Amino acid sequence: MDRYRAWLPITDATPSISLGEGATPLVHLQRLGAAIGLPNLHAKVEGMNPTGSFKDRGMVLAVAKALEGGARSIICASTGNTSASAAAYGSAAGIEVVVVLPKGAIAAGKLLQALVAGARVVAVDGNFDAALAVVRALAARDDHPLTLVNSVNPHRLAGQKTAAFEICDDLGRAPDALAIPVGNAGNISAYWAGFTDYAMAGIVERRPRMLGFQAAGAAPIVEDRVIEHPETIATAIRIGNPASWRLATAARDESDGRIEAVTDDEILSAYRDLARLEGIFCEPSSAASVAGVTKLARVGGIDRDALVVAVLTGNGLKDPDTAHRLAGGGIIEAGASVDAVRGALGWR
Ligand SMILES: *Cc1c(COP(=O)(O)O)cnc(C)c1O
Repeated sequence: MDRYRAWLPITDATPSISLGEGATPLVHLQRLGAAIGLPNLHAKVEGMNPTGSFKDRGMVLAVAKALEGGARSIICASTGNTSASAAAYGSAAGIEVVVVLPKGAIAAGKLLQALVAGARVVAVDGNFDAALAVVRALAARDDHPLTLVNSVNPHRLAGQKTAAFEICDDLGRAPDALAIPVGNAGNISAYWAGFTDYAMAGIVERRPRMLGFQAAGAAPIVEDRVIEHPETIATAIRIGNPASWRLATAARDESDGRIEAVTDDEILSAYRDLARLEGIFCEPSSAASVAGVTKLARVGGIDRDALVVAVLTGNGLKDPDTAHRLAGGGIIEAGASVDAVRGALGWR
């Protein structure tokens, strides 16, 4: 917030409640990029934020502005990471945090982050879209004043623009293409706004093509219709009626970009490749960006020498169950002796 305060709605009355969000690494994916024919592929590793996802960039500003306005309580619906972030920043700000979650559809780590931080967690019998409708209605009442901190809160998107600024500052230019998972569609809209701010100020010459990726079972923008029962292992993007739908299609169209679908198998394959070729453990939803560029590169949809940045939105440690299903059979048991371990490894 401090580094980019000139670009943000920060005043002298806005409290600073930073937990160290932002300034995340931009990593050159040398082995994975070579394998898919994109030698200039980079990853913006947003899992390095304080609560392990990009949500912190917008949450810090949304909570600071709520405090500035005298709020005592915040509320959000969440597929998991928004609640983890709201719980952390709400705790740091000393205010009440209420999160409404789709029951049984939240990755274990994210739910525990909210609970340990002391948020009041309500699990509803419905999906994310239903939870969002409930919190929007609750925040509109005045019997219990609540500030809504979902990405329909404009401060969330304003704070999230800082990731686009960082990428341009690190590269000394804007990338040719930005690949990003799309759920509620706030982040793709925020990046586009950030690149636009920098281009209008003359800091970068051109803006990137925006390449958004939805999971095939939860692809309302791709199919151009609301999906009543979105399904995917990528729970952070399991959304059937995105709040920032129009902003996302505007970003796509103004940038000559695309929003396409990737299957769960393609997502899991990118998730594994990121860990095995690059040492980066992201959550399944995040891998949708790399799954998408892999697919586009294969059909010639991206120039071989394009400078591409894929956003890895969250940390893999949040979703141990998916990791376990994929790799849990990999343990070799042995006695605690040199011979037994050598034998188990087949080194006889
Ligand atoms: C929230 C989130 C997304 C989706 O971002 P939107 O702004 O809702 O499109 C993707 N990946 C992760 C890890 C998230 O937490």
